[in-house]
Amino acid sequence: MAIPAKVGRYRITGELGRGAMGAVYRAHDPQLDRPVAIKMISASATGGSLRADESEARFLREARVAARLAHPNIVAVFDAGREGNDLYLVMELVEGESLAARLAGGRYPSAAETFEIVAQAAEALAVAHAAGVVHRDIKPANLLIGRDGRVKVSDFGVAKAVGEATELTRTGTLVGSPAYMAPEQIKGHELDGRADLFSLGVVLYELLLRRKPFPADTVTTLVYQILHEDPLADPALSTSLPPDQAALLRLCLAKEVGARVADGRVLAARCRALAAVPAPDESPTRVLPAFVAPPPPPLPAPPPLPPAVSPPATSPALASASLPASAPRRGWLWVVGAVAVAVGIGLAALVLRSPSVPPAPGTTSPVVTPLPVAAETLPAPVGTPFGLPESTATPTATPEPTLELKLPTFAPRPTEAPTAAPPPEVATPEPSPVEPPPEVATPGPPIAEVYRCQIAAEFHIDPEEARVSIDGRDIGTSDDWDDTGGGKQWRFDTTGRHLASLSLAGYQTVWIELATDLGAEDEVCNVDLELKKVKRR
Ligand code: ATP
Repeated sequence: MAIPAKVGRYRITGELGRGAMGAVYRAHDPQLDRPVAIKMISASATGGSLRADESEARFLREARVAARLAHPNIVAVFDAGREGNDLYLVMELVEGESLAARLAGGRYPSAAETFEIVAQAAEALAVAHAAGVVHRDIKPANLLIGRDGRVKVSDFGVAKAVGEATELTRTGTLVGSPAYMAPEQIKGHELDGRADLFSLGVVLYELLLRRKPFPADTVTTLVYQILHEDPLADPALSTSLPPDQAALLRLCLAKEVGARVADGRVLAARCRALAAVPAPDESPTRVLPAFVAPPPPPLPAPPPLPPAVSPPATSPALASASLPASAPRRGWLWVVGAVAVAVGIGLAALVLRSPSVPPAPGTTSPVVTPLPVAAETLPAPVGTPFGLPESTATPTATPEPTLELKLPTFAPRPTEAPTAAPPPEVATPEPSPVEPPPEVATPGPPIAEVYRCQIAAEFHIDPEEARVSIDGRDIGTSDDWDDTGGGKQWRFDTTGRHLASLSLAGYQTVWIELATDLGAEDEVCNVDLELKKVKRR
């Protein structure tokens, strides 16, 4: 397909890759004189049966919501608009590649890198969830890794902008990549951020174990596995992981929403705590035989389907279709359709196997209430969180990878900021084979030092690019915490114990406690630390 010379005011300079919805271009914004990435989205993908102006309005609304998410680990959305029949999203250009591309090339991260990747993604999700935004399509292809090692979650708002407008979503609510979907997403229930954390748990599992937790080759089997099977039930798998890593995986992949990790910050903290644990040896110990011989053992077939809930005669082809794991490009919308059909089948299987499980709600629209949108135009770009040099690197679209994961356990401290209140729990009475890990018994991250002062902190960290996070909130780099130039003091809103992390890609994260008390001798906690480099396997 010919590459356009311009999209809106943006001059196209190359193609970065293609997804199911269209191409992603490298472009130049002449007005702000900076490189950008432009994702083209076919109008038919967003429109469904809606009128063009309705689908465009919906798309722009989601783009505005996404544009408000400002975080170093989120691909910034700068602009959106229509070009001919297509809609487009203008984003921060990430020089690097997607995690999917890395995995497709067999470049699996080490365990420490895996935890860092997942921690950064979890922090991004925490920010989005606190703003009421659920990503809905967390998968390796949407985790971009910059050349500096920073992870950036892309496509916020896209799944909703596209999915909400489709017939399938209005009637059955399935948007996302089925291999990464949470059980409640499969069922079409209302979603909150915990669905994204389940998907991130799937990624973690893949990265740690180098196999997918739900390795089905048909949509029907996949649905059955996600709803019923414990991906850590195989003793060969569970014994290959340290217990705390297996516990973290269980916490992420709990089928019951209420038993799952609820806050991206907690997940990030646990990941960082596990990343700090030295590997038992320097060899890739957790490369399981399933990896060496990729195809997993044959799965038990789901129970036969009752005719009453089987899809019509036109559906079996979809129900038995191969999953996109084997396809070079996911037919994204096709998959949505296939999964929608499969949900009926899967739930029928569910009913047979677990009579207590109710059928999926047929018409529930699974969506987080959009944030109020005041402006009709996107906010003016405020600059990329990180100076990204324009270069010629071209991440390429790649098939879904096979990864593995493991998680650490960290009980939130009393001073941690509260999690955004989750929406009311949807009753999911099916029995879960997953035992939720005992939240109260989990240790926190290793605290390197405790600092006592009255009300403020200064950070002098080597390297000075290290990011400082306090009580789960990223406050900037250590030499310049507000990213506006010039070092400053961080003043706490409340006294008490504050948990801070100092992290930088390629270095071991350090956790410290800042105990603030107006009666303390020093007004300011002076944090002067050097981060150690992560040993590569
Ligand atoms: P799907 O369409 O199923 O979401 P996908 O995520 O691979 O699949 P796109 O999101 O369309 O597809 O991305 C296509 C390619 O463009 C990928 O190689 C991706 O890495 C690249 N890409 C996407 N966004 C950016 C960005 N902001 N900066 C640099 N490259 C990007």
